[in-house]
Amino acid sequence: MPSPRDYYAILGVDREASQQEVKSAYRKLAVRFHPDRNSGDSVAEEKFKEAAEAYAVLSDTEKRARYDRFGHRGVAGGGFGGFDPTVFGDFSDILGDFFEFGFGNHGRRSGAGQPGADLRYELHLELEKAAFGAEENLEIPRLETCESCSGSGGADGAEAEVCRGCGGRGQVRLSQGFFTVARTCPQCGGEGRIVTHPCRSCRGEGRLEKRRTIQVKIPAGVDTGTRLRLSGEGEHGRRGGRTGDLYVDIVVEQHQHFHREGPHILSEVELAFPQAVLGAELEVETLHGEVMLEIPPGTKDGTRFRLKGKGIEQLNGFGKGDHIIVARLSVPHPRNLSDEELELLRELAQLGGSEVKEGRRVFDRVKDLFG
Ligand SMILES: [Zn+2]
Ligand SMILES: [Zn+2]
Repeated sequence: MPSPRDYYAILGVDREASQQEVKSAYRKLAVRFHPDRNSGDSVAEEKFKEAAEAYAVLSDTEKRARYDRFGHRGVAGGGFGGFDPTVFGDFSDILGDFFEFGFGNHGRRSGAGQPGADLRYELHLELEKAAFGAEENLEIPRLETCESCSGSGGADGAEAEVCRGCGGRGQVRLSQGFFTVARTCPQCGGEGRIVTHPCRSCRGEGRLEKRRTIQVKIPAGVDTGTRLRLSGEGEHGRRGGRTGDLYVDIVVEQHQHFHREGPHILSEVELAFPQAVLGAELEVETLHGEVMLEIPPGTKDGTRFRLKGKGIEQLNGFGKGDHIIVARLSVPHPRNLSDEELELLRELAQLGGSEVKEGRRVFDRVKDLFG
């Protein structure tokens, strides 16, 4: 392992340099070799780490004294050979400080210009509306820019003043050891500005909760899980921050007779025994109105009939789905049949050679009990 370079040489200062000179020399190097400005440059990265290591020692009077007496061995054990600036939690703060000097104001202002939140609305739709599209009015409570103060938060057009606690940076810096620690400014809560005469409508917040009716065009073919994005219909930003979006999540309700499978609709039609045997022509309900359905003679229970294009329009433009009708053979209970019907059924059974064994009718049983 090559012997490490002299810390004074790294920073380019002499042995009598003051703390201020050490800091200023480090600042220049840190700005010059910062990874953000030299991405992928491994030499710059090395120089950046080297400078940080030198500064960590020379900015600390105790460590510097030991280094002056014993050299690198005097300060070894402090993570040498692999000094990682990120091990110092507050390192970004000190660099942030430098970067404000180097590139103008890069201070973090958490409050000002804060973007508005995105909103989510669950919209329940009947199947018909999902199939054909609709226009729905949604009532959305959301934060909007206060009209009285135009969002400034100040009464009578008064602008917010620069916070004296932090000079508008939103953070205050405290010295802790050899690092500067940044804290959110307690006076302005990190905003950098203070409203001295707050607007009476919004109490200085710049925004107010309003109930808005928003008209949404629902395209034909939406299904449960479809998400519509209404750009710029979310909450308004704070102090000029961008407006959020509104997401409408569709939930399609169950239909009494129609079962949906993607773009297709399934429903059932009941056939009486003679209809199933002899054939019939029946009116069936679809989303597109009533349709005549031909039941061919000898239709079995469970037979499916496909009505092409009588289903739901597909969102991706692949055309309409179908309506599938499933035939169900209706089997009545004898107590719901007239005597004449029962007579005919018995006759039919005899003619067809099918043996039947009738249970005793309720009426007969009652007669037995009391007779
Ligand atoms: Zn206001
Ligand atoms: Zn402040």
